[in-house]
Amino acid sequence: MFDITIIGAGITGSLIAHRLSKSDLKVLVLEKESDVAEGATGANSAMVHSGHDPKPGTLKCKYNLEGNRMYPDLCKQLQVAYNPIGAFVVACGKQEEEKLETLIKQCEERKIPFEVLDREKAIAAEPNLSDDVTKALSLPSTGIITPWEVTIAAMEEAMLNGTELKLNYEVKKIEKKDDFFLINDEIETKLIINCAGAHCDDVTNLLRESPYKVTTRKGEYFVLDHLNGSFVNHVIYPTPTEKGKGVLAVPTVHGNVMLGPNSDDCDDKDDDATGTGLDFVRSRVSKTLKNIPFHKMIHTFAGLRPHIDLGDFYIREDDQIAGFVHVAGIESPGLSAAPAIAKDVVDNIVLPKFDYKEKENYIRRKPFINTFDMSDEELNELIQKDPDFGKMICRCEKVSMGQIKDVINRKCGARTIKGVKMRCRPGMGRCQGGFCEPEVVKILAEQLHKDVKEIELNEKGSNVFMSNAKEDL
Ligand SMILES: Cc1cc2nc3c(=O)[nH]c(=O)nc-3n(C[C@H](O)[C@H](O)[C@H](O)COP(=O)(O)OP(=O)(O)OC[C@H]3O[C@@H](n4cnc5c(N)ncnc54)[C@H](O)[C@@H]3O)c2cc1C
Repeated sequence: MFDITIIGAGITGSLIAHRLSKSDLKVLVLEKESDVAEGATGANSAMVHSGHDPKPGTLKCKYNLEGNRMYPDLCKQLQVAYNPIGAFVVACGKQEEEKLETLIKQCEERKIPFEVLDREKAIAAEPNLSDDVTKALSLPSTGIITPWEVTIAAMEEAMLNGTELKLNYEVKKIEKKDDFFLINDEIETKLIINCAGAHCDDVTNLLRESPYKVTTRKGEYFVLDHLNGSFVNHVIYPTPTEKGKGVLAVPTVHGNVMLGPNSDDCDDKDDDATGTGLDFVRSRVSKTLKNIPFHKMIHTFAGLRPHIDLGDFYIREDDQIAGFVHVAGIESPGLSAAPAIAKDVVDNIVLPKFDYKEKENYIRRKPFINTFDMSDEELNELIQKDPDFGKMICRCEKVSMGQIKDVINRKCGARTIKGVKMRCRPGMGRCQGGFCEPEVVKILAEQLHKDVKEIELNEKGSNVFMSNAKEDL
């Protein structure tokens, strides 16, 4: 019998598991895909917003502000990148400047650091702002992260401390027994936390008629290659509209730039194909920026926002079914809010229901080995110890065989080509895997003791219990 079962291993499910792993409770995470961070968490703008624009009084506002303050320490603890790069919200003309005033007032009320820049100052910091930009609101507390890296690291550390993760496992049936739940006729658990993103309402419907409906809104992006010298130095937002934050230019932690997203209602909750939305992105981003190096585009992708019909995050224990906790409608700014959501759910809803002890010897994860940032001396020393770190597999992103083996042979380790790509980047560069993918397949097959034909982009079909991944190989 598990104490707590979390459904969904996106950023919210994984950070909740991570926080719970500090206690001695028995925790299980169920994820229908072949890896963590495969839902909205794997395809978004990767920004930790300052909290300047959610509506006052909403949970979105409360958790965004608190999450923004928590991220630097959380990323330090998990040994993943956090870059407090800052953002500009730019206005083109009088009407938009008036809208900036509302944001400025909200920054003052919410104690968010800000500066108002006239065109001259804004251009000095961002020379590629369009000729129409007249004013900018600078938000230095805006950060960028790699969302799946935070999620993988949180799950890895949770698993090092006893959390179990079951991948390729879709929750299709839940029964409420006297004082526990039975999932898919086989898993018994005292409490369930529903973190199923776009499918939160479907999961709730397995037990009772869901009090909310979740639909998806698609956002599409261009990804530009590493540039010689930066094209933008901050995140560039247009002035927001009722439809949201608008089309952004976002530098990534790894030196690329993303342009997007649009926001289009989508009938299919799992349809992440790109299409005509990219034309909209191109035309919109050209209003705030000029000299955009579209010829450096190496990739496009789309993400699906889990949009709830109640207008705000829905986070509470169910009012009819004790022990069933909703973490639903986590659309933007869900990434920014996730650490604060996890803290509130664990400390105020879940833990008070159990007798538990804090773990005395909590195990910290080690960071992925990153040769990209090493000096020649450091790299030579590493290669002397293990020659695999001298065998270059991905030339675009400079990833060695040693790094790929490292990300496979861990708790929550990579099991698929995409899993390796998300953890150490072969395939993220300008060849998009054209050169390195066959080598990655061979390494995966060798490390997992499989035939190369069994290695897939996104492995489906087998239930992999990963709590003892290394030992199970
Ligand atoms: C285009 C776009 C841009 C965004 N930009 C930002 C941004 O810059 N900053 C920000 O703060 N937020 C942003 N967001 C919002 C943010 O990405 C989400 O709020 C956040 O990732 C939601 O995380 P989650 O864990 O709740 O859901 P998800 O990441 O969607 O995770 C849910 C998981 O549940 C699993 N699941 C579903 N049903 C089942 C089932 N029956 N059984 C087992 N598993 C199941 C899914 O496979 C999935 O892995 C953006 C979102 C999008 C789409």
